[in-house]
Amino acid sequence: MAEIFFSIPDLRIFSYGTTITGGLILWIIEGINPYFSRQMPRGLHATLNLSMAGLNLLILLPSGILMAFMLDWSRNVWAGIGMLALHPVVEAIVIILFIDLWMYVWHRLNHEIALLWRFHSVHHSDSTLDVTTSWRFHYMEILFSELLRFPLFMLIGAGIEHLLLYSLLMTPVIEFQHSNISIPPLMDRLVRLIIPSPMMHRLHHSRLRSEHDTNYGSMLSVWDRLFSSLLVKDNLDDLRLGLDHESDSDQQRLFVLLLRPFRP
Ligand SMILES: [Zn+2]
Ligand SMILES: [Zn+2]
Repeated sequence: MAEIFFSIPDLRIFSYGTTITGGLILWIIEGINPYFSRQMPRGLHATLNLSMAGLNLLILLPSGILMAFMLDWSRNVWAGIGMLALHPVVEAIVIILFIDLWMYVWHRLNHEIALLWRFHSVHHSDSTLDVTTSWRFHYMEILFSELLRFPLFMLIGAGIEHLLLYSLLMTPVIEFQHSNISIPPLMDRLVRLIIPSPMMHRLHHSRLRSEHDTNYGSMLSVWDRLFSSLLVKDNLDDLRLGLDHESDSDQQRLFVLLLRPFRP
């Protein structure tokens, strides 16, 4: 099983390398040129969010190996988009667009379905926003997400190479949109023509529901435009990050966060 996953090591290593390098570069820049100045101590904040990420790797690594095996098997039975006999590059673009659309839908469902929001709200409970927030997810959200990906990706005939390519493109965007980097408003406006910008995603982490139920895009901002969930503001002076009904100190402890969704 594992051979299939490890048969494309270059793409895999490049994808992991980009995630780590991109995260480190953004972490350094946001230390030099931050957007929000009143934040939790950076080291403490990063330790908490990286602990959650470490826990999620226990799901993501075996899931990645299983996914490689399942997709390889299913493509022998059902080609999905492969039946259109498109040029491989065009096929990869179509599949990557589909995956990004699914990420938009999945994120939106996490806000609209109360049970899913219980887990996703752990991501939103971060009252300090920086690049490490992009790795802060409850393990149950990761588990649900992985379980739904299996049948969907088999149905469209995606290969593990498409998933790795998507991850390679999407992860730096996710890290960038969470980063606490101050960038000129004009640059933010240009960026958001293609990808969700930091200013867009800061609104997505607002305590106000009318603001956090917007800007769901992962890699591309086009879905928010298409489905009328785009919200932009050039001035975020009044923005309060996190969740309204909990004190900041309550939210910033690992075990509290892990148990939080199971509380009545
Ligand atoms: Zn969200
Ligand atoms: Zn976020």
